[in-house]
Amino acid sequence: KDTIMDGENVDQESSIEELNKSIAKSAFDKLQDDRKTLPVYPYRDELLQAINDHQVLVIVGETGSGKTTQIPQYLHEAGYTKRGKIGCTQPRRVAAMSVAARVSQEMGVKLGHEVGYSIRFEDCTSETTVLKYMTDGMLLREFLGEPDLASYSVVMVDEAHERTLSTDILFGLVKDIARFRPDLKLLISSATLDAEKFSDYFDSAPIFKIPGRRFPVEIHYTKAPEADYLDAAIVTALQIHVTQPPADGDILVFLTGQEEIETAEEILKQRTRGLGTKIAELIICPIYANLPTELQAKIFEPTPEGARKVVLATNIAETSLTIDGIKYVIDPGFCKMKSYNPRTGMESLLVTPVSKASANQRAGRSGRTGPGKCFRLYTAHNYQYDLEDNTVPEIQRTNLANVVLTLKSLGIHDLLNFDFMDPPPAEALLKALELLYALGALNKLGELTKVGRRMAEFPLDPMLSKMIVASDKYKCSDEIISIAAMLSIGNSIFYRPKDKQVHADNARLNFHMGNVGDHIALLKVYSSWKETNFSTQWCYENYIQVRSMKRARDIRDQLEGLLERVEIEVTSNVNDLEAIKKAITSGFFPHSARLQKNGSYRTVKHPQTVHIHPSSGLAQVLPRWVVYHELVLTTKEYMRQVTELKPEWLVEIAPHYYQLKDVEDSTSKKMPRGEGRTS
Ligand code: ADP
Ligand code: MG
Repeated sequence: KDTIMDGENVDQESSIEELNKSIAKSAFDKLQDDRKTLPVYPYRDELLQAINDHQVLVIVGETGSGKTTQIPQYLHEAGYTKRGKIGCTQPRRVAAMSVAARVSQEMGVKLGHEVGYSIRFEDCTSETTVLKYMTDGMLLREFLGEPDLASYSVVMVDEAHERTLSTDILFGLVKDIARFRPDLKLLISSATLDAEKFSDYFDSAPIFKIPGRRFPVEIHYTKAPEADYLDAAIVTALQIHVTQPPADGDILVFLTGQEEIETAEEILKQRTRGLGTKIAELIICPIYANLPTELQAKIFEPTPEGARKVVLATNIAETSLTIDGIKYVIDPGFCKMKSYNPRTGMESLLVTPVSKASANQRAGRSGRTGPGKCFRLYTAHNYQYDLEDNTVPEIQRTNLANVVLTLKSLGIHDLLNFDFMDPPPAEALLKALELLYALGALNKLGELTKVGRRMAEFPLDPMLSKMIVASDKYKCSDEIISIAAMLSIGNSIFYRPKDKQVHADNARLNFHMGNVGDHIALLKVYSSWKETNFSTQWCYENYIQVRSMKRARDIRDQLEGLLERVEIEVTSNVNDLEAIKKAITSGFFPHSARLQKNGSYRTVKHPQTVHIHPSSGLAQVLPRWVVYHELVLTTKEYMRQVTELKPEWLVEIAPHYYQLKDVEDSTSKKMPRGEGRTS
């Protein structure tokens, strides 16, 4: 049995292993060398000393200086992780994932072991994790289970300048625990020089500045405003590509969101195809929040010789991610921003002009490795006179219901006196309290109820959480968590290839049969997929993104786990659509609207004109009464994900919110359905 062959095999295997090891070793060595070239490296010891000497330190350094990837490693090397984890928060999930992946490479460990990340619905950490990158929202939720963050030795609130809602709330919470946990180190890091404000807030904490290396950036403006900035951006990118040698450097274009990026990608592909072989290859790399993980790595791959990369990015590339090799930045001057009207409680995503601070960050991305150029697709006059100096912190332009529920669960009752860096409008706080009261999460005294406690267990918006908690009563929790999971995916479930639009639309309409409404249609998609044993083939046949479905399944599994935690049984009531719709209404009753004579809708509580989104299965049906998931403002204010309801449900489900007069339909009561819109 012991033949020579065996011996040979062993030898071969071990030599291949040796070879792999030495390749890995040299890659590892290269990474170690790269680490030493970062601007933060010469300050390593000084920085560790400052952290040793002070409990709270504000750290400022240009994007790309190594704050996010290096400082946690330095602290690990200096032994801080012997006392507890190092947590580093990021405002964006993609950044948390990508930075964790990078750091695990640099440390030569498997992602999820010593270095991990935690984002909503995705926990890639383990018992051994000592460097934990996470979204700011996840750290906020960790307070619920560990109010003193006892398992952490250091918390680094990174990208503090972004001033997201969760980061702003974290400021107040970490400031508070630092007082009774003298062993906890607190780092507040920011990419902008406007650090005095952080220092002032944290009781005059010292500021550590990492001097950056920045090359001059030439700024170009357009002579006249651009009517179509997307087209202008594409034309500019192509012009640079065909007139400048590719070795010169790559191009970074700032766009507002996934749809815009996909459109730009398609147009660029079409137009470069027509350029012939004389022009260098243009590699198109999109990056946005929902980009599948396996495609995210592409933007960091070095550009092959003779080719050029064009990165189409959202705001994420402004400061959260650093892409090496960028020489040209194209800045149309817009971003997608949440806006909130505290009077009506309506929230919308709007394409808005960026601030001067943002525009300058964007320009700065081109001057990291050499002199850069930034093309602003607006006029110098626009820049000077129309752009705000700074972006308004999110806390001042968003719905606060979610954080108010979290704070209440943490036992923080006096919200008006919470230590906010910039307080939200009192009106918005009151509105949040009002909504939580209407949903039954708070009682008249503003105290958390049993329903509220259950709702807080779900990492979802309060209306979604309420819908889930209410499904207990209607015995349809099984269906409702599927719907909630599908809603959490966003609008990336169906796809519509250009050459097969009719097929795709028909496939989609199948799920809408009987005008069941969008929520039930989502449920049907999920359960049909489940019936096929989660078949990929089935997804192809029905023009459904299998990746999105897998994510929905994953989220659904987690929601099922949470149901158990709040002691709600998983019960199915699939044949009683009315029960399912009532559960939906129990969470979303504040989002009800009534049909108008002209085919538009009027929201019931704070009358505003809205429309059913063309992608809805009910867009042609126009039921008299509907409940919607969310509003999006594009050319009009659209309701997305819509379901028909009976007006009497509103009074039945939310008698404290709606009175009979709100839902009386006197003029059209006797008319058959649908007639109202033709008269
Ligand atoms: P800062 O937080 O100061 O903006 P980072 O620590 O994020 O800086 O980045 C330092 C360097 O690490 C960047 O210049 C980039 O070259 C590299 N880097 C960061 N993330 C990745 C990644 N996911 N893949 C490859 N390189 C990365
Ligand atoms: Mg960073």
